[in-house]
Order: sequence, then structure tokens, then C-alpha cells
Amino acid sequence: MEKVVVIGAGTMGNGIAHVFAMSGYSVKLVDVKQEALDKAIATITRNLDRMVSKGAIDEAKKAETLGNLSPQTDLAAACADADLVVEAATENIDLKLKIFQQIDAAAPASAILATNTSSISITRIGSVTKRADKVIGMHFMNPVPVMKLIEVIRGYATSDEVTKLIMDLSVKLGKVPVEVNDYPGFVANRILMPMINEAIYSLYEGVAGVQEIDTVMKLGMAHPMGPLQLADFIGLDVCLAILRVLHDGFGNPKYAPCPLLVNMVTAGYLGAKSGEGFYKYTAGSKDAAVSSMFLK
Ligand code: NAD
Repeated sequence: MEKVVVIGAGTMGNGIAHVFAMSGYSVKLVDVKQEALDKAIATITRNLDRMVSKGAIDEAKKAETLGNLSPQTDLAAACADADLVVEAATENIDLKLKIFQQIDAAAPASAILATNTSSISITRIGSVTKRADKVIGMHFMNPVPVMKLIEVIRGYATSDEVTKLIMDLSVKLGKVPVEVNDYPGFVANRILMPMINEAIYSLYEGVAGVQEIDTVMKLGMAHPMGPLQLADFIGLDVCLAILRVLHDGFGNPKYAPCPLLVNMVTAGYLGAKSGEGFYKYTAGSKDAAVSSMFLK
């Protein structure tokens, strides 16, 4: 396996492309928006610079990694000689089904098609292709170059051979893969999203303020980041989409997204990527202040 295509150059796509390129794979990074590709290459370059300044890699490794990356907007052309396609486009089932039909038509019959979806059924995605045995979940964590886990999700029809190949590949990328079965939210988001949703409900019902809720979870539960700030980094639109998949998939009201989350997404407050969510973010700064909407 040498040629990898990553579809979607947003928060996750740039990190996934970074990790494959640094492990020596030739990576085509595809997005419908040229500006998303430009931003992704700028982000990867900045992250590689940080690794050089910390002594984790040298300038030659940085140049080799960037040399392995080729950004493009033509999905079909990019997939034509792919060994592996990793889809990391927007978390929307209709969009993903359409993209998988396009990839299935364009990629060689031998290619494995993986999705980085946070919650959507791998079985459902595989069902729109002619190779459900080669469709698998490869759920990287954010930020991809730093986080060790890959949740490897087997769809109903995913073969043992493809599962083993992706588990082994994950180890080659320097990650720790964990195999799980295909149910809404898998393991990671089935546990994480109800916690984030409950933190938003606590804010909505006035139990405590933004910083107070995050401080309780950081200092009380030893979480490195509070749930509201984590939601900002994941993207509030992504959190809402995952909660809806859990709610629809299990038909259980305990997964109903908090109305405050719905309102914030509708208003365009998507977290770090839009500049404001529960906190306000200034480009290039690591410090975040509580959003003016939640100041008492
Ligand atoms: P994002 O909104 O940052 O980026 C999505 C990108 O997909 C955008 O650049 C968009 O232009 C592109 N896109 C949309 N339609 C496309 C198409 N037809 N072809 C090519 N590109 C297209 O989203 P993200 O946070 O990177 O999430 C991507 C996937 O990763 C989702 O399935 C999400 O659930 C999953 N995920 C996200 C996180 C997280 O923390 N954000 C963590 C794990 C998994």
C-alpha cells in the first residue's frame, strides 16, 4: 500500500494527510474548496515547523513530508490509482453516501475505502458501494498528529482481511488501533457526546458558568480540557451532527441535543474554527476568553 487519498481538507483531513505523508505514503489531499486546501497545507507546514523547533523531526523530514503531499480538487482523478482512500469530509450522511458512490466508481476495485466519520454507520456507507467488504471506519482523533488512538470500526460486511490490514497500518502510522463494532457513535462518541451535551445543558439551565463547568471537569476529573472547550475544538456543528445520529440511531431521548447547542450552530457559532463558541478565539493565540454571550 503506497498511494493514499484523503477526501476533505478540514480540521481532520489536514491532520490525517500530515500523518500519512510523514510515514512515507504518497498522499493526494482532495477538497471541493481550493481555500480549504490552501489552509490545510499552511496548517501542516506550521505543525511541521513546530515539530522541527521541538527537535522531534529535522528540516529534511519536513521537506520529505511536504513533498509527499499533493492537494487537488478533482476527486475522481485523485482516486484513479489509489490503494487506500480515507474520507474526512463534513459529517453529513447524504454527503458521505454521495462521496462513497463517487469514490467507488473512480478507485481501483482493489482499493480499501475508509471513513473518518465520528458516528455514521459504516454498514450504511458500505451498502452504497460495490465493495462493502472493503469499507471500514478509521476514526482518528483530534489533533491527529498528536493523538494516539484510532478507533477501527468494522461494518457488518467488512472482511477480516481488510480489518487486519487497517489495524496493522494504524500501527505503522505510530498509532494505537482499537477494534469496535458498528453501532451509532461507536465507542468514543457514544461516551463523549452525552458528557458534552450534559455540560451544555448545565450551562443552559444555569447550574454554572462556562469556566466553572470546565474547571470542575479539569480539576475534579483530571480531564486535560473542559467539555465546553473540547466541544469548541471538535466543532459545535460536528457535535450536533453526532448527537443527532445517536438520537436517531437509538431512538432514545437521552441523546436529544441541548437547544442551546442547536441555537449556537444555527447562529454560526461553531467554536474554534469560526472564531467563537463557548469561548472566543483570536487567530494565532492559544488563549481563549469566555464568549461575551456567556459573561455574567
Ligand atoms: P470540517 O468541517 O473541518 O472539514 C470538512 C471538509 O470537507 C471541508 O473542508 C469541506 O470543504 C470538505 N468537503 C465537503 N464536501 C466535500 C466533497 N464532496 N469532497 C471533498 N471535500 C468536501 O470537518 P472535520 O471536523 O474535519 O470533520 C471531518 C470528518 O471527521 C467528519 O466525518 C467528522 O465527524 C470526523 N471527525 C471530526 C473530529 C473533530 O474533532 N472535528 C474528530 C474525529 C472525527
